Amino acid sequence: MARYTDSVCRLCRREGAKLFLKGERCYTKKCAFERRPSPPGQHGVRRRKMGDYGIQLREKQKVRRVYRVLEKQFKNYFEVAESRPGVTGENLLRLLELRLDNVVYRMGLARSRDHARQLVGHGHFAVNGRATNIPSFQLKPGDRVEVRESRLSREPFKLAKETIRSHQAPEWLAVDPVKLAGTVLVPPRRDQMPMELNEQLVVEYYSR
Ligand code: SF4
Repeated sequence: MARYTDSVCRLCRREGAKLFLKGERCYTKKCAFERRPSPPGQHGVRRRKMGDYGIQLREKQKVRRVYRVLEKQFKNYFEVAESRPGVTGENLLRLLELRLDNVVYRMGLARSRDHARQLVGHGHFAVNGRATNIPSFQLKPGDRVEVRESRLSREPFKLAKETIRSHQAPEWLAVDPVKLAGTVLVPPRRDQMPMELNEQLVVEYYSR
């Protein structure tokens, strides 16, 4: 499976915003965006005026990069979001939020979405009792995600047991900090996905 392997901090600088892709480091003074917020590259510091298309494109890239999804897969998500009743932009964010790797991250079991994807890929989780190693697995209300019993003694989960109690999970997710398990209670509403993303610009980008 193709994936982005360059420095993720470059993505924050490119999008002109902190995308919080590196876990703890993002909240410290070591954050590359705090130290150098200009776009990467030789001409990064030059100011460029953007038209409507540029603004829509950048927002689409920003959403895609926050959730660590490749272009083609992101477009597929958009098409599914568009085919569903309701507000397309909100549907899109909801689909992304309900990916298994994102839910593992929201549960507080991984320091970043990349880390969550790696943990899922290594087969550490079960959904409704069945081992699953597909990061894009789409969850729905009632689904229960848990660390497989045989994996609970692994290092990332020993650490998670110590940190999970201080982690604030979103309201749509019930987390059991003892069993390192979580249940999706309801599909997240837009106000329960408090991210500084303008999904309407993404809709406009694909509606050109
Ligand atoms: Fe972005 Fe800063 Fe985190 Fe790097 S450390 S991913 S620049 S927020």
